[in-house]
Amino acid sequence: MNPEESRRGVKHGHGSFKKVKRVGKESAPHPPSLDDSLEGDLRAFLIDEDQLHTYDDLTKVNPVTPTTVLKCLQARYRAQVFYTHAGCTLVALNPFQPIPDLYSLDVMREYHSAAQPQESKPHVFIVAEEAYRNVQGQLQPVNQSLVVSGESGAGKTWTSRCLMKYYATVAASSSVLKSQDTVDRIEKRVLDSNPIMEAFGNACTLRNHNSSRFGKYIQLQLDRSQFLVGASVQTYLLEKTRVACQPANERNFHIFYQASMMKGASGEQRKEWKMSHGQSFNWLPKTEKTLEGILQLGNIHFDAPVKESEPCALEGRSKEFLQRAAGLLCVPAEELENCLAVRTLMAGKQSILKPCSRSECGVRRDCLAKVIYAHLFEWLTIFINNSICADNSTWCNFIGLLDVYGFECFQVNNLEQLCINYANEKLQQHFVAHYLRAQQEEYVSEGLEWSFVRYQDNQSCLDLIEGNPTGVFSLLNEECRLNRASDAGKFRVRLEKELSDHGNISWDKFSKEPHFTVTHYAGRVSYQIEGMMEKNKDPVPPEIIALLQGSGNPLLGQVFEDQEPENTATRGLSKVVTVVAKFKNSLESLMKILHSTTPHYTRCIKPNPDCKPLTFHKKEVIMQLEACGIVETIHISAAGFPIRIPFSGFIQRYGLISRSSQIKQLVHSMDSEPGHDDLLRTAVDAIVSEALGSRSTGPVYRGERDSHTSL
Ligand code: ADP
Ligand code: MG
Repeated sequence: MNPEESRRGVKHGHGSFKKVKRVGKESAPHPPSLDDSLEGDLRAFLIDEDQLHTYDDLTKVNPVTPTTVLKCLQARYRAQVFYTHAGCTLVALNPFQPIPDLYSLDVMREYHSAAQPQESKPHVFIVAEEAYRNVQGQLQPVNQSLVVSGESGAGKTWTSRCLMKYYATVAASSSVLKSQDTVDRIEKRVLDSNPIMEAFGNACTLRNHNSSRFGKYIQLQLDRSQFLVGASVQTYLLEKTRVACQPANERNFHIFYQASMMKGASGEQRKEWKMSHGQSFNWLPKTEKTLEGILQLGNIHFDAPVKESEPCALEGRSKEFLQRAAGLLCVPAEELENCLAVRTLMAGKQSILKPCSRSECGVRRDCLAKVIYAHLFEWLTIFINNSICADNSTWCNFIGLLDVYGFECFQVNNLEQLCINYANEKLQQHFVAHYLRAQQEEYVSEGLEWSFVRYQDNQSCLDLIEGNPTGVFSLLNEECRLNRASDAGKFRVRLEKELSDHGNISWDKFSKEPHFTVTHYAGRVSYQIEGMMEKNKDPVPPEIIALLQGSGNPLLGQVFEDQEPENTATRGLSKVVTVVAKFKNSLESLMKILHSTTPHYTRCIKPNPDCKPLTFHKKEVIMQLEACGIVETIHISAAGFPIRIPFSGFIQRYGLISRSSQIKQLVHSMDSEPGHDDLLRTAVDAIVSEALGSRSTGPVYRGERDSHTSL
């Protein structure tokens, strides 16, 4: 079979495919494991291994199993082909090295001007162009969303940037594709917002030297003429703990290191910013670049108090750092010290001052840094939006780009991973619903009867997490709103009591660490309960808010202006909006937007964990195919019609066994004359009927779930 032909047939809706059920054990609901013999598959289905790299669409590999798909991707990667379709999804393999001319202006021009971009080689520009044309088209909804997923380092942000560049070029309001000179144009401003967001929101991690530590949805706003006139950015779940604490061998946010700030600073600015040469900061591991007052906080440490009733004293040079920090944050040094070392408790109308322990002082210092950074990030997002967002009257449609963290499963997982994996469950559900719909439509267009009966979606896992009142989030919120010390052990018991009947949650009875394990669509993840409640409450001492509100620094004063201090000591925690509640709300808004758009999915794959150029590790890849839902897509595809042979290929292969002279003649004439679709369709039906000894005249291989052909 010619895969190019196969793909084109589907894309143009020529109705040129006959779907036949797979034979024997291959039709089992779960395809064979990685260790199963691929050779067996290849022999059984006459796949020519040398041709695997030519398959532009994974669902056209026969049979569609994880092993054949993996082999195909490997062959393509070896042939330096990095994009492959998987039905309505695009799989992007990260080359980990610049590929000359893969994203050049000429290539953009080629995809943009192609009559049928789908006919060109798979590329992220096909996705971009399809979405762009859909905006003009009659299909509803006209607004589009491009969802880019994959694990850290897989290439999501790179892909999003490529997509943005594509639109900034093809949708530029003047001199379309004529020049790249877009000085001070809106397209340029939109693109320029990327490095700023990345400077504040990205960091060097073990898995990616430019890892995004936040999720991002950017809406590119188009006017009636399809020109890009503006954009707006929405951010999700910034990993603010990184400001004060970086995992071993990882770094703080890029902005702290931006050499240009240091290099470009004049002597006067250095003086103003109190940045001396050669000073090192504990929050900047392995580097001596210095930046902003926030970093001075990281060097403040406290000694244990001499008497228990007294506040902790500043340790070593901490007084100096505290004074610098206070100067930079424009708050009185004494107030800053008090705020870190002394807590105010309310007893009725009376306030009581209580010294904090040494470790509490450290927690309060970190909290101060985190809250400043998180607010700055929010302020930055608003600032960027103000400068790139078009006036509502000037735009009418949008293309949204979603670059979110992929499914995460680490040695230790906590609330961040639970939120991230929950987001991925939501996106997976959205994807499956969309994919099933697309498949249904294709079957209908080909006149095939079809009903999906076996496939189970991931609703039960979502119920487990977001269910009310007994989902994990609700129980966690309830626990956090009770004004009592967090107790991981008790919470685990509560979870077990409420959720023991749920099939997606389990506990290792012998584990000493309180935890729970969730069976996600992409795999099982154990979540540590210790620390989860504190993270969910994310308390900011009211003294810290009051301190920052009194700051003489206009920016700090502005960003904390509307913040209401949450005095949990007096008000209780009942009104505190928890982290998961906020996250769930923002995700729901995002899902509403996604539901109101036509989605396009790109799944980025990281071919090896070390970011080595052109290196393909099968085990890594198959795990990601599972985690990002490609295997799931394949399962769904296998639950449908896993073998899709173009009519012409079918006739050429099986027409020879027919006794009909007309069919034999057709087979011989096909090389010179491909034949009309209707004619081919009738011939296929005749061959099949004959082979089955049936007198049926209509299409025989209809989608009865368990019927197999004996071909
Ligand atoms: P993610 O956002 O998924 O964590 P990135 O988009 O930051 O990953 O990609 C990680 C790195 O991989 C990039 O910094 C870049 O070096 C490389 N990379 C990703 N996609 C490509 C590509 N298409 N071509 C070349 N290099 C790429
Ligand atoms: Mg990223």
